[in-house]
Amino acid sequence: MATILIVEDEKKIARFLELELKHEGYDVLTSFDGRSGLETAMNEDPDLLILDLMLPELSGIEVCRRLRHTSDVPIIMLTAKDDVSDKVMGLDMGADDYVTKPFAIEELLARIRVALKKTRARDQAAHEAKSDQCLQAGCITVDTASWQVHVKGEPVALTRKEFDTLKYLMEHQGKAVTRDQLMNEVWGYDYIGDSNIVDVYIRYLRHKIDDRYHIKTIHTIRSVGYLFNYEEDEE
Ligand code: CA
Repeated sequence: MATILIVEDEKKIARFLELELKHEGYDVLTSFDGRSGLETAMNEDPDLLILDLMLPELSGIEVCRRLRHTSDVPIIMLTAKDDVSDKVMGLDMGADDYVTKPFAIEELLARIRVALKKTRARDQAAHEAKSDQCLQAGCITVDTASWQVHVKGEPVALTRKEFDTLKYLMEHQGKAVTRDQLMNEVWGYDYIGDSNIVDVYIRYLRHKIDDRYHIKTIHTIRSVGYLFNYEEDEE
């Protein structure tokens, strides 16, 4: 269940909120001033903040501003009814939503559900985007975002050209790739040099991956080029 941090100096309101939120099944943390609220938010990494704006030590606006340097936790502000400028400033500082005092608890609970749902959708999207950047075949993982290659859980150091060659082959798993394709993709159309360079890099890759880890990945297709297909070594 989600953890919610309440930052509210009016203890009666804080207690009331704590009871209601716990009743809904949330885990609850409470701070009674801005400074400790900010510290708790940074140390405990809650899933959502309910942040009063008028706070001792550090105003809610300031808590919001500082927290946004490092965190995108959803923040729902509690504001005085008529203080429009506070609301605007809070939203400008990165708060996600606000509820005016006095508030109906049902309204606040609904806003909490919306905010948590949004974060979950965002986290999910981020997670999916991340897995898109990974190419995988058997025990080989190529992370194109961080330029890391792992074989059987071990990091393998590849040069830029080796990496690009492997990446291109893995993107076309099971399909024959010609030397010209590799030349154009990895070395560029304007590369003037011997196309044997492709064979040299394939040799490097086979040495670093196939030979070392006893697998077979890069197959030679006679008079065409190469084909990536992951196979465990027989012996
Ligand atoms: Ca207050």
